[in-house]
Amino acid sequence: MIPIGGYNVIIENILKDVELGLGVDCFDYREELEASANKVAFTGMIDQYFDYKHGVLEYRSLRFKHEVLDEENHQGNAVVSYTDREIPYTRIIEHKKFEYVLQPKTVITREYPADWKRGDEPYYPI
Ligand SMILES: Cc1cc2nc3c(=O)[nH]c(=O)nc-3n(C[C@H](O)[C@H](O)[C@H](O)COP(=O)(O)OP(=O)(O)OC[C@H]3O[C@@H](n4cnc5c(N)ncnc54)[C@H](O)[C@@H]3O)c2cc1C
Repeated sequence: MIPIGGYNVIIENILKDVELGLGVDCFDYREELEASANKVAFTGMIDQYFDYKHGVLEYRSLRFKHEVLDEENHQGNAVVSYTDREIPYTRIIEHKKFEYVLQPKTVITREYPADWKRGDEPYYPI
């Protein structure tokens, strides 16, 4: 679930007074970054962090299909999961249901599982 106001409020507070570098691949500055602090928290791919010395881990990726629907309510809930073999997507997200906005239309996103290859977003480690 999503906290009231969304995650932005939490993240803005966490990052208050913190120096940020965006759009930067930390591996381009690895030595410099590791020398700059006593402890480093790394949030990327753990196999990449160890230079793939034990090979590449398996990940699962996702493909998103967004739609604007001409209906006030689509599924009555923010997230509905689909586990049937016949249905190609695994979830439908109805975004307005996170914050209960009142609008005549609704935006949904279907999530389709996708095989992962290097360069894709590694959403889920297997
Ligand atoms: C589609 C989807 C929906 C989800 N919905 C929910 C939900 O509703 N509620 C919930 O609680 N959880 C949800 N989750 C799970 C949640 O998003 C994850 O568990 C959480 O984000 C993991 O946090 P993290 O910090 O470990 O990794 P991430 O959030 O993936 O953060 C890793 C960060 O590291 C950055 N990074 C990686 N490599 C590098 C690099 N080389 N250099 C610089 N930066 C790098 C990435 O860009 C990214 O910003 C969802 C996940 C997915 C995929």
